[in-house]
Amino acid sequence: TSAVQITDLGKTYPGATDPALTGVSLSVARGEIVVLLGLSGSGKSTLLRHINGLEHPSTGSVVSLGEDVPTLTGRALRELRGRIGFIFQQFEIVGPLTVLENVLTGSLATLRGPRVGIWSYPKQLRLKALGHLDRVGLLERAYQRADTLSGGQQQRVAIARALMQDPEILLADEPVASLDPESSGQVMGLIREIAAERGLTVVCSLHQVELALGWGDRIVGLRAGQVVLDTTTDGLSKDQ
Ligand code: ADP
Ligand code: ADP
Repeated sequence: TSAVQITDLGKTYPGATDPALTGVSLSVARGEIVVLLGLSGSGKSTLLRHINGLEHPSTGSVVSLGEDVPTLTGRALRELRGRIGFIFQQFEIVGPLTVLENVLTGSLATLRGPRVGIWSYPKQLRLKALGHLDRVGLLERAYQRADTLSGGQQQRVAIARALMQDPEILLADEPVASLDPESSGQVMGLIREIAAERGLTVVCSLHQVELALGWGDRIVGLRAGQVVLDTTTDGLSKDQ
């Protein structure tokens, strides 16, 4: 069964003259690691945001984890989003909070009510968060303010946060676009390792061909809102 099944998806934003996506079809198998490769404005974010229902299609269908996404509302939509982690170019880390608090907020989907401070989270979640911080190599930073961390470290915090909901799919929107080459390599490597450990399905947008080539199992190229390439990387220069 597919993790994601997109059929003839079209999207035109309100007031826009040109469509952001046209006739996009894409099937992603469970456990597959897919790169969406394209220039800025090619529709990568728009496509990712349809997978967890952050955007509503103009035409076509989007089925994620067996759910017909555009028909979901309220609790059903929240439940689906709980099964799909998302990391962003700008990390979306809350600077004044500690690293551990940032990771704990990733469990909010499964908890009721607002939480202030780490002690309002059940012990089992605190331990889980610390475990994820250990996995991304930041255990010793747990009680530090998040804004004292480098960009690469903040993105690793965002990865730990996304893991708190035990996602089946991880969506990553240009996760290394604001990082230097060394941190980019670390973050991409970490995403790949964690995906393999957990059998996660990953759809990650990138604009750098070199990064994409050695990283994904499959590359889907977007240009002006259309799929212009869809290939496994086996035949490409994956030998490092
Ligand atoms: P990418 O992620 O590849 O940079 P986007 O999906 O962000 O591409 O954008 C695709 C196109 O849709 C661009 O022309 C962009 O300006 C437009 N777009 C994106 N978001 C919106 C929005 N909220 N409202 C109107 N147009 C948008
Ligand atoms: P990216 O290229 O990484 O998608 P952008 O800088 O294009 O980032 O977009 C940042 C935010 O602005 C996104 O939420 C996007 O949906 C929105 N956006 C992009 N283009 C437009 C647009 N033409 N009109 C309104 N919102 C837009």
